[in-house]
Amino acid sequence: MKTKTLIIGGGLSGLSLAHALQQAGHDYQLIEARDRLGGRIKSLTVGNSHFDLGPSWIWPGQERVAKLLKDLGLVTFAQWDRGAQLFEQPDGTVLHNSGFMSMAGSYRIAGGTSALTGALAAGLDPARVHLGAAAQRISADPFGAFAGDTFVAAEKIVLAVPPRLAAQLEFQPALPEPATDGLQGLPTWMAAHAKFVAVYPTPFWRDNGLSGDASSRHGPMAEIHDASPDDASFGALFGFMGVPAAQRARAGQALADAAVAQLVRLFGDAAGTPLATHLQDWSRAPFTATAADASPPPGHPAYQMPQALRQVWDDRLIFAVTELAPDNGGLIEGALAASEAAARAILA
Ligand SMILES: Cc1cc2nc3c(=O)[nH]c(=O)nc-3n(C[C@H](O)[C@H](O)[C@H](O)COP(=O)(O)OP(=O)(O)OC[C@H]3O[C@@H](n4cnc5c(N)ncnc54)[C@H](O)[C@@H]3O)c2cc1C
Repeated sequence: MKTKTLIIGGGLSGLSLAHALQQAGHDYQLIEARDRLGGRIKSLTVGNSHFDLGPSWIWPGQERVAKLLKDLGLVTFAQWDRGAQLFEQPDGTVLHNSGFMSMAGSYRIAGGTSALTGALAAGLDPARVHLGAAAQRISADPFGAFAGDTFVAAEKIVLAVPPRLAAQLEFQPALPEPATDGLQGLPTWMAAHAKFVAVYPTPFWRDNGLSGDASSRHGPMAEIHDASPDDASFGALFGFMGVPAAQRARAGQALADAAVAQLVRLFGDAAGTPLATHLQDWSRAPFTATAADASPPPGHPAYQMPQALRQVWDDRLIFAVTELAPDNGGLIEGALAASEAAARAILA
């Protein structure tokens, strides 16, 4: 296979880049390791509704995502924040309206965040998108990438994969050491985390004056939010696990059971009979996390493109993923910023 621009990775960065190149009539191919597109954007489907297992929120002032949603005909709605917040003390006692900062002021995408990646993917030429194709080796001469036995020759290659995964690829010749160090030094945002989602017939907690927001020092979830669709056709709660990755791996199904038991303590008996649940542990997703991502960074890193990753191999190897974005690194808006910069460089 031969193309002008080979995009490696079909998360939001890779998909939005492919969208921009296609709109410009530029020849590209996209290879994605998983059997689905979207990367960290993934959802649980119940009926016709989609519940976020990766990102949920966007914020006012994120202009790229606002514009893209408008162009794609997608709409947003405010994160539900009406009602009392709960706080679970270490002994399991529940306090009302206590000590918790909700995500008030943030917005969600109607149809789930995967509506965004789904709409981008739907607009791409299917003949240019290849699933189940993991790049393993990147070669400078001849210039191209190997996915299994297939060699894709290209004029430029865009690595739209988390930096630490990019560092694990085989480069021929090897990347300069500062470039490899730069890639390894950037934690994959949220890769250490696990999200638990429980779906119910209705958002019953709202009738009891509860917002669905809770924080807990008891666990296993540390932070819980309302994740219901905008039309409340279902109710849903999601929580970030407060249990470290290694402990989660040992716990198995017991962790999901403990999460449901916690929802009962917080929101009452109706929480004990969800229609569906899903525990998404990103630390164990091989095309998101590396072993180094098992522990989260202490805060949101000040992501920046290391100097050593600029102009690699005569500018033919371009890095475009949220962690390497010019702004909003780690976020959805960052993924769009990264692909915008890559598109500018390619189409210049
Ligand atoms: C639990 C969680 C909650 C989050 N919450 C928010 C939020 O509320 N708001 C927000 O703005 N952001 C949030 N984020 C971050 C957001 O998900 C990311 O910023 C965004 O999805 C990154 O997109 P990306 O395309 O840059 O990277 P990725 O989504 O990681 O895409 C990389 C792609 O490359 C593929 N790939 C990897 N290796 C190879 C290979 N060798 N060959 C081919 N393909 C490969 C992967 O399968 C993947 O599809 C959250 C993330 C998680 C996990």
